[in-house]
Amino acid sequence: MTAQKECIVSGMRPTGPLHLGHHFGVLANWLALQEQHDCLFFVADWHALTTEYSDTRKIKGFVPGLVLDWIAAGLDPDKCVIFQQSQVKEHAELHLLLSMLTPIGWLERNPTYKEVAQELSGQKDLATYGFLGYPVLMAADIILYRSTAVPVGQDQLPHLELTREIARRYNFLHGDFFPEPRALLTEEAKLPGLDGRKMSKSYGNSIALGEPLEEIAPKIKTMLTDKNRLRRTDKGDPDVCNLFPYHKLLTDAEKCAEIREGCTTATWGCVDCKKTLMESLTRFLDPIHARRRALEAEPDRLWRILEQGNAKARARAAENMEAVRKALNFNY
Ligand code: SF4
Repeated sequence: MTAQKECIVSGMRPTGPLHLGHHFGVLANWLALQEQHDCLFFVADWHALTTEYSDTRKIKGFVPGLVLDWIAAGLDPDKCVIFQQSQVKEHAELHLLLSMLTPIGWLERNPTYKEVAQELSGQKDLATYGFLGYPVLMAADIILYRSTAVPVGQDQLPHLELTREIARRYNFLHGDFFPEPRALLTEEAKLPGLDGRKMSKSYGNSIALGEPLEEIAPKIKTMLTDKNRLRRTDKGDPDVCNLFPYHKLLTDAEKCAEIREGCTTATWGCVDCKKTLMESLTRFLDPIHARRRALEAEPDRLWRILEQGNAKARARAAENMEAVRKALNFNY
């Protein structure tokens, strides 16, 4: 018996080039999902406004770059719908309607609301209606397609719970229509940055998916390893080494076992380990870079893919919104 196809919706904000952390944290999962399910992946450009509302110039430039990163990584527009949130206006309409029935208390207790506001305080004024209400827009994004599942990491569960609560409240008030999307808990493969902190472009410790190999090689050479292994003759511990998580994701299991054995017995040195990692990275990035070059040679293709995806998303959204308008007696 074949498993039932889920309708899955997920998005990313266009905030700049994606790096390896994004690939293994989110994209790798999307690539697997597109093979089995009815997936819609969107560029969350309206969401980018929650923090970038005062200077919106960059957002538009980041949109094709994000789609380029996705497709170069292996997302296939023949297998999933790739679209842009702001080009399917029904997201805004459903957001407005859901905002009318969402209690403010639900939004204020959102754990990331205060956290992010605090983190960015001094840099950005986030005491805005849009920032408080972004989980409502997120709920609209997801349930607009009557999606049944959402890929989430453990830390995003409260957000999804809020989406489920909003869907439940709509269904209670206006009749059962939206499935409460369930969490597809994904094992997030966390890749540390080159310096051991969280991988982030702003820390300057990341490797972008589109970065040329000759720029990556010197970065790998300066990566932190097990700090207790000062000499080649010292035994190392891959479990405290910043490089080994990269091997676990990029190097085959047999070689990883060899590395572990060699490191813990001091028969394998960090220089060789870094060389092997660079070979693994090259194997991983070569096809991504090749797809990237092909897409860059035809820049219009990205916009065409988006237009086609927008049209498909719009058709599905329009059908569902018609039912919502009818349920709310707004079908004039
Ligand atoms: S040999 Fe490899 S795993 Fe061991 S400490 Fe050096 S870089 Fe890390």
